[in-house]
Amino acid sequence: MSKLQSLRGFNDVLPAQSALFRRVFATAADVASRYGYGELRLPLLEATTLFKRAVGEVTDVIEKEMYSFDDRDGVSVSLRPELTAGTVRAGIEHGLLHNQQQRFWYAGPAFRHERPQAGRYRQFHQVGVEAYGMAGPDIDAEVIAFSHRFLTALGIGGLKLEINSLGGAEARVNYRAALINYLSRFEAELDEDSKRRLHTNPLRVLDSKVPRTKEIVADAPQLADYLETESRAHFDGWRQALEDLGIAYEVSPQLVRGLDYYTRGVFEWTTTELGSQGTVLAGGRYDNLVSQLGGSPSPAVGWASGVERLVLLLEKQQSQAAADAPQVYFCTMGEAAERQARIVAEDLRNRLPQLRLVLNAGGGKLKSQLGRAEKSGAGLLLVLGESELAEGAVQVKSAIQSATAHQQASGERVIFAALADFLATRLV
Ligand code: ATP
Ligand code: MG
Repeated sequence: MSKLQSLRGFNDVLPAQSALFRRVFATAADVASRYGYGELRLPLLEATTLFKRAVGEVTDVIEKEMYSFDDRDGVSVSLRPELTAGTVRAGIEHGLLHNQQQRFWYAGPAFRHERPQAGRYRQFHQVGVEAYGMAGPDIDAEVIAFSHRFLTALGIGGLKLEINSLGGAEARVNYRAALINYLSRFEAELDEDSKRRLHTNPLRVLDSKVPRTKEIVADAPQLADYLETESRAHFDGWRQALEDLGIAYEVSPQLVRGLDYYTRGVFEWTTTELGSQGTVLAGGRYDNLVSQLGGSPSPAVGWASGVERLVLLLEKQQSQAAADAPQVYFCTMGEAAERQARIVAEDLRNRLPQLRLVLNAGGGKLKSQLGRAEKSGAGLLLVLGESELAEGAVQVKSAIQSATAHQQASGERVIFAALADFLATRLV
């Protein structure tokens, strides 16, 4: 029989890493509530047409990366490759967008059939925000301030904020023509993907990671020279607000977002620590999507970040990654002590809500229990044997030494009634 394994690019997250995932989600939830963003929990599976209409037919995501299949009713459905399309769909469906302002955030898995590598997976997680009904640069600045606070609260350093403006429809039409005109002169030298995109989605060529294409792109005409007056004013207002807030940024003329629906301001927080998976958070304005999906027109801006990439950075940058290690391991010897210890442990958990305590289970000699305690990472040991039981007390020992050293050294005896208060002073 062949060995059962997880699918390529679909990861198990084990307890040591789960703590970091939880920290990312908890930080997002906390910052969201401080800015007044409400949480959306959306389906993982949606009609394929939603993504085709939202993301755009000639994008990598739709052409090559979607998990699409016909369900048992013959309906084409897809695992969501991102959460913005679902957010707009839900907003329209529940009447939340028409003539209203909304601030939403979300967290959850997304799926793309990509080549798995560090920081790029087939199931990954996104945390993101979306704001509707606000057209001015003030809200663009707000979502950046939110992202800045989120990344800072996580303690992730060394990130760079890059921004650009894609302009509105008119700028894009004119720019597209100029870009095709320029790139056509180098058509033979472009990589295969870029050749194909040259006429379907030329802006995507700017995003190419192929060295020769990148060289050609470096001298291409720049969108900034094609912005309409209002788009330019919007861009200036956004930049002014970032400067007011002291959030450093760089204007990157080549920055275009991977998905089709962006208009005007786009941005990315990038790192150089994750190889070519350098974008940890990305977003922008997408004023046309709501109407494109059948709602009445509503301006929109948002961002999404890759949780796995944030976790990789946390692991790299913070050697003391927040672990879930218990603080206390409780050893028992003999059946009577075991019964008493169960009661004492529950009592401690009642009295000390923050306490992380593991009660030994499955018996074992003291030596093997001490071995388990060491492996658990707990900093304090409680030992309840027959002699302690007779005194109505528990032996408390601190600091993890070798199991044998512990067996010999004896700790402080603390009576049951005083144990909670005693531990409270010893736990950090
Ligand atoms: P990339 O250029 O890295 O492929 P993208 O432009 O396709 O990213 P978006 O659609 O903007 O990405 O998604 C927002 C964020 O989600 C990205 O900035 C990245 O951090 C994360 N992300 C995207 N695809 C993956 C993936 N396959 N695995 C892990 N994280 C991902
Ligand atoms: Mg991608």
